[in-house]
Amino acid sequence: MTRQRTLKSQVHSTGIGLHSGRKVNLTLRPAPENSGIVFRRTDLTGSPHLSARPDCVGDTRLSTTLSKDGVTISTVEHLMSAFAGLGVDNAYVDLDAPEIPIMDGSASTFVFMLRSAGLVEQNTVKRYIRIKKSVEVNDGDKTARLDPYDGFRLSFGIDFHHPAFTADLQQCEIEFSSLRYEKEVSRARTFGFIRDVEALRMQGLALGASLENAVGLDEFRVLNEDGLRFKDEFVRHKILDAVGDLYLLGSPVLGAYHGYKSGHDLNNRLTRELLSREECWEYVTFEKEGHAPISFVPLTA
Ligand SMILES: [Zn+2]
Repeated sequence: MTRQRTLKSQVHSTGIGLHSGRKVNLTLRPAPENSGIVFRRTDLTGSPHLSARPDCVGDTRLSTTLSKDGVTISTVEHLMSAFAGLGVDNAYVDLDAPEIPIMDGSASTFVFMLRSAGLVEQNTVKRYIRIKKSVEVNDGDKTARLDPYDGFRLSFGIDFHHPAFTADLQQCEIEFSSLRYEKEVSRARTFGFIRDVEALRMQGLALGASLENAVGLDEFRVLNEDGLRFKDEFVRHKILDAVGDLYLLGSPVLGAYHGYKSGHDLNNRLTRELLSREECWEYVTFEKEGHAPISFVPLTA
């Protein structure tokens, strides 16, 4: 059968919070079967925990923030994306601050951490969420949709009027597998316009933002000395975000996601809408190894 996975050993790293600019200690640890991804704030009395679930998402203006009983953990989407990318079902995430460190603005550090920890299979069968009927949410001309599909495909369109966003670089489609995710998605960095960063800083936000952890743009060009990692890095990052936001469903999706100008807010509305419409999805498992329509990285890799 296709089994659930967790980490082989624990792994630790430090980084800074995008908004606070402060140092954050992050530890990823193995977790038992059927735990899902569980975040713990070790800096607070009793180390309160928050489960990665659509109904635990609070603020979605700048990142995906988990929130329960006044405890918050923000910017979970890039780490969730790495868990989804490598097919990790169960893990504890300990951190001593209210935000996951931004690292280099992509998911590549988290992929590296998971690879370093190693992955093991557990004794329980892995559950997938199969889309049976299309579900769509909209906000003006923004769209996020899930359609039935025998695999996991993501397509995304953006519409930025800016010299760095030429028409051919505003769309991307990926047929998901762990290896494609690692190579073509996980390294795509978040991006921002300098004028927006200045406005956020006036509100005490984005204090940790720099060209070390984002692609920065002025009115005309990319400001990072080394340029872009992919010509269409912007839209690839939107796919990275969608992979992470969808993984709040708690299981890999078997379906096709399409986003147009979507963001964390619409992605979260899509996952809530899906779960509320029982006729649109079902859990499926695969009793024979290799029968699942999407493949995750081999444990020996
Ligand atoms: Zn992002």
